[in-house]
Order: sequence, then C-alpha cells, then structure tokens
Amino acid sequence: MADRSDYGDGTRCVHAGLPEPAPGQPFLPGPVFAAPYHLEPGPDVATGGYDGYARSGNPTRRNLETAIGELEGGACLTFSSGQAAITGLLLAVLRPGDTVMLPADGYFSVRKFAATTLANIGVTVQYVPTAGPYPGFDGVRLVLLETPANPGLDVCDITALATRAHAAGTLVAVDNTAATPLGQRPLDLGADIVVASGTKALTGHSDLLLGYLASRDPELLETVRGWRETTGAVPGPFDAWLAHRSLATLDLRLARHTANAEAVALALRARPDVADVRWPGLADDPSYAVASVQMRRIPGIVSFDLGDAGRVERFLKASRLVFAATSFGGLHTTADRRAQWGDDTEPGFVRLSCGVEDAADLVADITSALDSAGL
Ligand SMILES: *Cc1c(COP(=O)(O)O)cnc(C)c1O
Repeated sequence: MADRSDYGDGTRCVHAGLPEPAPGQPFLPGPVFAAPYHLEPGPDVATGGYDGYARSGNPTRRNLETAIGELEGGACLTFSSGQAAITGLLLAVLRPGDTVMLPADGYFSVRKFAATTLANIGVTVQYVPTAGPYPGFDGVRLVLLETPANPGLDVCDITALATRAHAAGTLVAVDNTAATPLGQRPLDLGADIVVASGTKALTGHSDLLLGYLASRDPELLETVRGWRETTGAVPGPFDAWLAHRSLATLDLRLARHTANAEAVALALRARPDVADVRWPGLADDPSYAVASVQMRRIPGIVSFDLGDAGRVERFLKASRLVFAATSFGGLHTTADRRAQWGDDTEPGFVRLSCGVEDAADLVADITSALDSAGL
C-alpha cells in the first residue's frame, strides 16, 4: 500500500486505494463483475494468488478495502451493509455465556439484534448510555461504543474507555458511522476494532448499502474474514465501485455538512419554539468537551424537538429543501422523526442531516417552514 498518511484529508480521499498509474487505464479501475473466475484447468484447485470465487475475493472490493483501510489506519473488510459488519463482528467473536456491552442509545437495529439473536444464543447484553457512567468491564468480552451516538449525538472518550476496558481484557469496538474516518480515527485512539455503515456519510450519495470493519489485529481480522466468507455478507462489485468513486469527495462533502450544520444549529438555537437543539460543535453542547478534543470534524447531523408528530409533519410539508427520509450523511438534507420507527425517542424528536446545499438557502427554508408549521 502506498504511504499517503502524510497528506491532508482531501489528498488522501482522492488517492485512497488507487493502483499505480498505468497508461491506458482509468484512475479507478472499473468494477469486475464475476461470480466464478477462470481457474487453471486441471486437478489442482489452488488459485495461485488470483480470485477463484467472488465470495472469497474480488479486485474491486479489495481496492475499496485498501482505500477505507488507508483512511482508518488499519486493514479493512467490507460487508454488504453496516448491520452485516456489526452483527458479523458480534457473532464471530461472542460465545454463549459471554457478556457484551452495547450503547443504550445506539443504533436501533443493533439493539434489536442483541435482544433477539444474541439473547437466543446465551450472550448476556449489558446496555450503557454513551455519555456514561460506565460500570466496570470485568467479565465483559467486548464493548461496542457508538460515538457520536445515533440519533442522540452524545459522545464518549474512546481513549479513556479503551484504557479501562483493556485493563480488564475487554475488546473495544467503535461504531464510526456518524464521524467517518475523517472525523475520528478510533484505532489511533486505542480501539481494537472499527465497525461502520458505509451507507451514510462515508459514501454520501444515498444510492448503496455498505458496511466495513477495520482493525490492526491480524488474528481478529482472520476470524472475521472467515466469518464473512462462510456467511457470505459481501458487497457486490458495482456497489463497491460506486462507494470507492464516492470516497474521493468525502473531504469536500464533510466540510459542507459541518458548515451547514453549524449554520442550521445556530438558527434553530435562536428560536424559542425549538427545544433541545443538539450539535456537538456548539460550545455549550453536552458533547462539546470530549468531541472538540477527540474529533477532527463534527458531523452534519443536528437534532431537536418540535414537541409532537403533527408539528414535525407540518414542518416537513412546508419545507422545500428538507426531504423526509431516514438515514443521514447524504448530499441532500433530510429529516427523520425517529419515533415513527418505534425508536425510543420523544414523539417530536427530529434528526436532521445537513446535505451539501448552500447554508443560506437551508437556513431560510428551515426558518420559513418552522414559521408556517406553527406550534
Ligand atoms: C445506519 C447505521 C448502521 C447500520 O448500517 P446499514 O448500512 O444501514 O446496515 C449501524 N450503525 C449506525 C450508527 C448507523 O447509523
């Protein structure tokens, strides 16, 4: 892998995972579509270093893994979705009788998985709010931290918690979906494993599902690689290629997300009719103290409370720029009333994900939509 670690974020994103220049070839090689590949004819099935079957290997996927690995600072394995990466890690590592610690306020589907599948196989699940307090780690096989947490935007101190967890022999995984590797590098902060959804800001175009795991632990990587190969949760080559193409603009997209979120958070904060505005970049936000030290960028997600479902609906109907949609981190500004999904949030709680539109247009649109939504 070429060492691009001295470059700035923009340069690293543009060049991440690209092969050496070759005359007549594109900068980013096109997707390789294949299920099986030609083998050497004959009785010996050894592939001599090339791919035999796409569940085990695909060059488009490997280029993407090189790229994400460069950005996270570890080796990367991609999955068909963030859920596949996270549940793959948990099932590959946890045994019946183990205890796992999960964020009480983290991604809803992970908690749902824990309450069903993990409980069914005899894994004890301990839920801790992201902001703490954290109990002792004795007897805990793995702790998954999600920081900033989706959707509440609390953060936790990865370095401090990893030190405590490692003293008890606990593996530390961090869900880096909201931050992206440009926002924070959990492996540098002491985590053993990064897991994330690449569906959100990492790829940003709202056109694919992707997940990944990154680590510097060769043994763990082999365990997870074996899990992925036998369970088959790999991304297809076209999605992998789209994701790699989209990575080149990550620095630009995140810069606009952050600037827009700051403008929107300040505008919302100034309104007496909007409650509980959260953005970890606001100096008086409960997450600010840790986020401003630990994170290199603050994500484009702002959350707030409009009181009830009807007012959220009127706001979304009146807005011309904010699309009603779940997910976040895309080019388009979207808003999601999380309670409609059975999430344990307040009925008027909104997660707003700032896109890459112009800040002045967004602020004007959101302001007039709130004005016409009334109380
Ligand atoms: C979306 C999300 C996931 C799941 O990722 P998918 O790609 O949707 O499967 C996991 N963790 C967090 C924090 C997420 O936001």
